Amino acid sequence: MAIARCCLCEHTVESLEGLTCCPNCGTDYPPNLLTDDVTVQINWGDLRALVIWAERWAGQAKQYPDMLRFVYALAKRLRRQHPDRIVLTLAEEIEELRREYGRVETNLPQPPPERLTVVDALAEAEDILTGDGDGDGRRL
Ligand SMILES: [Zn+2]
Repeated sequence: MAIARCCLCEHTVESLEGLTCCPNCGTDYPPNLLTDDVTVQINWGDLRALVIWAERWAGQAKQYPDMLRFVYALAKRLRRQHPDRIVLTLAEEIEELRREYGRVETNLPQPPPERLTVVDALAEAEDILTGDGDGDGRRL
């Protein structure tokens, strides 16, 4: 029976003994104990605000490269519980706007439309959140 879940890839393990990283994705982020899973009542807008702030700060924590990955994994798990609700991250919102309207004009740096991929959108959002501002949507 699984006792813990990777906070990034959701891989579960039956024991933590001898593990120094996730056997699936290799992160050394501490796994979540399944006994700590809880149900919380919260307004979706409040949750969205928390996630976007976390996304912003995680994007600035360059010394912890898995931090932003963790926030996106967490947002994905939360959104999966309510797929009918608006997205929880700024990166997803920018991607949705581009999908619906093609080119989205903002005062934020944007990659060329032909490079529009999830990876590019996330990298651009990271640039925006960290103030990189080089507009290339690429990580430094
Ligand atoms: Zn993992």
